[in-house]
Parts: sequence; C-alpha cells; structure tokens
Amino acid sequence: MPDSPPPLGASALRDLAQILPAARLLLDPSELLAYGYDNSRRMAMPQAVALAQTPAEVKAIVGVCHAHGIPLVARGRGTNTTGAAVPIAGGLVLSMEQMNRILRISPGDRLIECEAGVLNSEVQAAARPHGLFWAPDPSSAGYSSVGGNLACNAGGPRAVKYGTVRDNILGLHAITGDGREIQAGCTTTKGVVGYDITRLIVGSEGTLALITRATLKLLPLPQTRRMLRAAYRDVAAAAAAVARLMSQAAIPSSLEFLDAQAVQLAQSYRDCGLSADTGSLLLIEVDGTNDTIDSAVRAVSAAALGAGLIELCAAASEAEAEDLWAARKALSPALRTLAPKKVNEDVAVPVTRLPELVEGVAALSKQHGIRIVTFGHAGNGNLHVNLLANPDDPAQMSAITGCLEDVFRLVLQLEGTISGEHGVGIDKRDYVAWEIPQTTLKLMRAIKHVFDPKGILNPGKALPD
Ligand SMILES: Cc1cc2nc3c(=O)[nH]c(=O)nc-3n(C[C@H](O)[C@H](O)[C@H](O)COP(=O)(O)OP(=O)(O)OC[C@H]3O[C@@H](n4cnc5c(N)ncnc54)[C@H](O)[C@@H]3O)c2cc1C
Repeated sequence: MPDSPPPLGASALRDLAQILPAARLLLDPSELLAYGYDNSRRMAMPQAVALAQTPAEVKAIVGVCHAHGIPLVARGRGTNTTGAAVPIAGGLVLSMEQMNRILRISPGDRLIECEAGVLNSEVQAAARPHGLFWAPDPSSAGYSSVGGNLACNAGGPRAVKYGTVRDNILGLHAITGDGREIQAGCTTTKGVVGYDITRLIVGSEGTLALITRATLKLLPLPQTRRMLRAAYRDVAAAAAAVARLMSQAAIPSSLEFLDAQAVQLAQSYRDCGLSADTGSLLLIEVDGTNDTIDSAVRAVSAAALGAGLIELCAAASEAEAEDLWAARKALSPALRTLAPKKVNEDVAVPVTRLPELVEGVAALSKQHGIRIVTFGHAGNGNLHVNLLANPDDPAQMSAITGCLEDVFRLVLQLEGTISGEHGVGIDKRDYVAWEIPQTTLKLMRAIKHVFDPKGILNPGKALPD
C-alpha cells in the first residue's frame, strides 16, 4: 500500500466526469460515507465513488485510475467481514450496484449470465421457476452481490454437498488493473483450453481485475428435503459424528455445528425445545428425490448415532425446518448482543481433525480468558470461531490477539486454512505468510503485477507486502 496515496486530483476528476454524469460520480462526503465501510466495521473515506452502469464505463474508469495511479476498490454490497471493501488507501470506489441486469438464462444448458451487481437472491429467484438454483448460499444471499460472491469465493451451508463459487462458475468478463477487458472460461460444463483464469479471479478480492459479468452454473432444485437435529452431550461427541457423517455415501446438503453457547443463543432467538444439557448441536439437512429421500435420512441418522448423542429428531414440517434455519442464521448478528467486540474467524480443517479443533479452541478460550462461541459449516470442516471482548477493557483487547494467533497456529498444525470462506481482506493479511510458503507467495505477487502493474486495485488487501 502506498504510504501517501496520490490524491484524486482535478485532472483525474475531469477525466472521470467525461465518463459519468454528475449523478453517478459522488463527491459529497455525506454520500461517500456509505461506501467507506463494510461488515468488518472498519471505515476509511474514499475520495470519490463511481456508479458504473456498463462494462465500457468500468473499462474507461479503470483506464483513468491506471493513468493517474489512483487506488480503486470494487464494491458489491459491502457485506464482507474482513475489511476487503474498505478503501484504506483513499482513491475511488467503483460500485457495481447499478450493473444489476440478468442477461440470459438457459435452462437446457443449466446456466445464467448476469452482471456483477445482481444480488445472489435475484439469481435464485430467476432460476427457481425453471426448477434450478445456484449453489452458493451465503447467509447474506438477500443482500450480497454476485461480483462480491465471486471475488470472495463465497459459500454457505450447502457447500458441503454442492461446493462454493469456484465449483459453480463457468466463465466471467473482467477489466484488469491496466484497463484490459478479458473474457475467461466458457459456457460448457467441460472445457480445458488455456489456463483457468476464471478460478484465479474468483477469490482474488478485487485485487486482480474488476468482474463485470459472469456465467454461473445452475443445478436442478432437489424435489424434497428433510431436516434433522442431533443434540450431543459435548462438542467432542458432535465433532466425532461429523466425521462419521462425512465418511458415508449419503452426503448431507447441509451439516451445521453449534457449540453450547451458540445453542443457547439460537434458543433465545427461537425456542427449539432443546434439552438443557445440550452441549452441542448438529443441524443436518438431506435433499433428494421423493424416491430416495427416506433411505438418505436413514443412512444419515445411522451415522449421527453414537456416543454422547442425547436426542436425534426430524423437523415435523417445512415450517419447523425453516425455524431451525432462521435460528442458525441469526447467530452471527446475535453475537453482538453478547459482547460489543467480536472477532469472527472462519477457519477450516480436514473434517477428521474437527474434534481436535473444537477441543483446542475450548482450551485456548480458558488459557487466554477470552469467551469464544463456535458454530459453522462443519461438513466442510469450516467453523466460525467468534472471539468476544469488551473494547473498553484493555486487558481483554490485548489477550484477544494472542488468543487469535494461537487459534491460527492450532489450525495450521491440523493441516487447515485460516479462512474457509470469508477471505483475507485486511484482517488476515498479516497471517497469510503463516500458511502460504514464500515461493508460492512470490509467484502470487508476480501474477498480481501482470494483472495490475501499478498496484492500483484494492491496495493493502489479500496479499502481505
Ligand atoms: C450476515 C452475514 C452472513 C454472511 N454469511 C456468509 C456465508 O455464509 N458464507 C460466505 O461465504 N460469506 C458470508 N458472508 C460474507 C459476505 O456476505 C460475502 O463475502 C459476500 O460474497 C460479499 O459480497 P458483497 O457484494 O457484499 O461484496 P463486498 O463486501 O462489497 O466486496 C467484497 C470483496 O469483493 C470485491 N468485489 C466486489 N465486487 C467485485 C467485482 N465486481 N469485481 C471484483 N471485485 C469485487 C471487493 O473489492 C471486496 O474485496 C456473510 C456476511 C454477512 C453480513
């Protein structure tokens, strides 16, 4: 990141004003404010915001920023949790919110093509009448954009069976940091021509190129689904059940884990009638056809049985299943009611190492005196480890960093990764070199230079200096 960012001076502003009408080039601080933060709750003011409507405008805007060396941050809806969309170097934020058209849907080819600013939920709504869906289902689906989902390689509960964005994209169009328009991927579900630039840009957090549109792979909606809840005496018993569930043939369509504190929080949101001695809960969803669902439920139930199980029961109705999901999805925002400061990590480990992770995290919580609430997408070994603290308590604030670093050390010892889905942004940048070897990092920096020779795209994010 440059020490003192080049100001977006009068000449650059004149060039931008040639591309956009005044109503779509925001300069008033009161309007800029809304584009300075994201769900990390960090804040930095941009110098201007561009509301592009076409790929040609995006290309021209990037061209101006490249020519003048102006930092440029792409923005979807600002829901990421790592500070990835915060313009810490100032400069220009390019918001995709007005690039929100669905361009075509081809049910026979199981694909949809749309602009980057379309919301995830709008993709789902367009696909549903054709009996199709797009697999990535972040809990933020109602208000996060396809461009942001791609740039963060988003996933969600369904990723255990259907994968993340990288598994469900066919191609994309993007503008590199020096204003070149590129097209990557194809419209078929098989294709091996050239390097896989599509999947390189996916997860790159706006540091390689600005995605303008994408072709997404759709899947047939399952005919039916069933929801089970399995309550265990402790987290170790639940974690062991996850490994059993993942080593048999009927893959759950979601497999969510909640520790005892998360269970209490969910219960306070909606009373699910759980026994008071529940030390951990698995929410297990299976989907399939009307012909196969019963046998899938039987197989999954058999795997959920085991030492420490208190209760295994199926949701009696779709409404009861929705209630359980609503309680699960409310957890993340509800944590703010427990403590004003939450550090929400989303580490992932191989599924068979989950018992070691949950036990290790509990030990670190005690050792550092930091309250930790853990829940998440256990079928992928991906847990949200939430460290809670009072920002007015300096002792807790200093303990939180030590505790967090020990969590990362533990995860890496268990052959895991420090981020399963939320990405790096600013928050995890200092720890990337703990996970990625220097030689690989050097190659990544060289790739960044090819895409963005002046380093104007989202400076200070994703890769350490
Ligand atoms: C309540 C809640 C629940 C969540 N649940 C999940 C979950 O289950 N799974 C999950 O994976 N995430 C989850 N998230 C995180 C977040 O919603 C996702 O990371 C989402 O993909 C971000 O989309 P966005 O449109 O808000 O992007 P933004 O936050 O605006 O941007 C995120 C990053 O993408 C870049 N970017 C945005 N658009 C483009 C583009 N067109 N081209 C290039 N780069 C671009 C930005 O520069 C930034 O680096 C959750 C967030 C919240 C608030």
